[in-house]
Amino acid sequence: MVMGRWPGSSLYYEVKVLDFDAGSSLYTVIYKDGTELELKEPDIKPASGFQTRPRSRSRSRSPGRRRSRSRSPARTTRRSSSRIAASTTTNDALPPRRDTRLKDSLEVRLSPLKQTKAAVNNGNNKPEKTEEKPKEENNTVNNGVAEAEPDKGQGRYNLRRRKDDGDAKPAVAKPEQLEEEEAKPAAAPAAPTTTPLDFGGKIGAYFWLLFLPAWVLFLVLQVNQEDPSLTNAPPLLPPPEAFWELRAFGLVLLWILFQAVLYTLPVGKLSEGMPLWSGERLKYRTNGFFAISVSALTVAVAVHQGVDITYIHSHFLQLAVAAFLVSVLLSVYLYVRSQCAAAEQLALGGSSGNMVYDFFKGHELNPRIREFDLKFFCEMRPGLIGWCLINFAMALAEMKQQGLDAPSYSMLLVNLFQLLYVVDGLWNEEAILTTMDLMHDGFGFMLAFGDLVWVPFTYTLQAYYLVRHPIHLSPPAVAAIIALKVVGFYIFRKSNSEKNAFRRNPSDPKLSYLKTIPTATGKSLLVSGWWGVVRHPNYLGDLLMALAWSLPCGFSHLLPWYYMIYFVILLVHRDARDMSECRRKYGSAWDEYCRTVPYRIVPGVY
Ligand code: NDP
Repeated sequence: MVMGRWPGSSLYYEVKVLDFDAGSSLYTVIYKDGTELELKEPDIKPASGFQTRPRSRSRSRSPGRRRSRSRSPARTTRRSSSRIAASTTTNDALPPRRDTRLKDSLEVRLSPLKQTKAAVNNGNNKPEKTEEKPKEENNTVNNGVAEAEPDKGQGRYNLRRRKDDGDAKPAVAKPEQLEEEEAKPAAAPAAPTTTPLDFGGKIGAYFWLLFLPAWVLFLVLQVNQEDPSLTNAPPLLPPPEAFWELRAFGLVLLWILFQAVLYTLPVGKLSEGMPLWSGERLKYRTNGFFAISVSALTVAVAVHQGVDITYIHSHFLQLAVAAFLVSVLLSVYLYVRSQCAAAEQLALGGSSGNMVYDFFKGHELNPRIREFDLKFFCEMRPGLIGWCLINFAMALAEMKQQGLDAPSYSMLLVNLFQLLYVVDGLWNEEAILTTMDLMHDGFGFMLAFGDLVWVPFTYTLQAYYLVRHPIHLSPPAVAAIIALKVVGFYIFRKSNSEKNAFRRNPSDPKLSYLKTIPTATGKSLLVSGWWGVVRHPNYLGDLLMALAWSLPCGFSHLLPWYYMIYFVILLVHRDARDMSECRRKYGSAWDEYCRTVPYRIVPGVY
């Protein structure tokens, strides 16, 4: 039993040391109230140098307190802190008996200094509003001993609450200890360095680097077969010269360049991303709808002028190989430049220290060339808009091959459904700024390959398949598939918009009916509305839409169902990744959310 400093304050509590990590030099300690934190060595002291202060609601102000308060940025804002370890689900109707409610609850602000400002901008979620206290009381530990102050190093603290016995008595360092503490220079912000490896870790990274390109090659060759049954032997590899065409490579580069020019045009909104570890908020040119409109117009003019874009169908393999080459070159560039990036610019998930894993997962979080954000651009532009271009080319190829005056119903449905998906994504482009890819994943091979190869060359397989395998759909079947798509789209859009709006402005009056759980980070979790039905309602909507994309291709072959199968695997794995990441971020508040919303994606089933 020793004394552990409470992050952001000069208060010490009795703690029990549970563990020591030699790598990070952090002690895992447990406080008497059940909160587990990771503390640095200077924050741990022998119990002998302390005197226990009795519980009191006295508000006499020690010099130490005054000093802390004057430095606290939270004092200028509407709320003092976030409550540690939410144990109840809260809403607007909280009773006004704040004093008794808050008795024994320890309030700390855990965001780094700059993030605190951002969080303030971000708002004001209801539980915190309800518990707001007059300024004099803000930032105080409720038993009147000390107040919390943002601590530059506090991001290192990992909060986990185990039980609610509320029995922790604070101890105050003797004056000489306090002076010693205060005299110490503030620790530099220490960004967390890494998170547990996923995708099978280091061995997994080797596997995926080989498997993903091989799998795309298999699909592209397979879909070109007369009978693309997966039970048939894999198609033979074509001769080496069939993989490469300079013109295809040039067209891929031209397309990316064209999209880059549209991205950089000063048209459309400049949107702010979520606060980074440093507190900075990057700006993104969200003109995706403009980009797809200009692209559509350009393609329409080209087709009108006699450009035969069915070339995309006949040279699918060469185009895919060219895009793969670009993605590899880009990934190498990203990895090399990430070696010079500052620590706070690195992605937690891609900083394992293993070259292959970090190359695969992405080492740098937001690589930029001046204002040009490479990850955002690749996520939203060349591959996504290219997907629609390829689908359109497949519709023309179908008409040509089948001698039709217009595309078949099934081809029309696939084209329109997927076009709607992309246009919606670009119309609501800002919403991607609150997703996992943008906020957490580094930019490396996984995303570069996914954006430039996987999306445009495997998401188009349904349209490609229909070119050679026409399906006749009856009007009732068309109506049923459209209904499914509409339901899926509604759930997908509404849930994504709800979370995005909440993350951008938690005090938005339009969201005031939603219940939330506060977390120790200052952010809250939605626990009603769409996010109270399941933990990933957006995935549910997306899966229903995926079903609607595969149904028009019939049941003769498994290949056009590939997207559906892959998507189930992707989203189940993504959900698991997100759950562990949120568990790490939000600790017991996340457990509370999971208890309140037990199902992950499908209500009552999963
Ligand atoms: P989400 O948009 O689902 O974001 C997950 C994050 O939301 C969490 O990390 C957490 O971040 C926050 N969050 C989770 N629960 C709550 C809650 N209860 N209240 C408030 N915030 C919460 O992540 P994805 O990036 O996986 O998905 C975005 C969309 O993209 C989805 O619709 C998905 O289907 C789609 N998608 C499509 C793909 C495709 O290939 N077609 C591929 C991948 C995704 P924090 O708390 O830090 O804000």
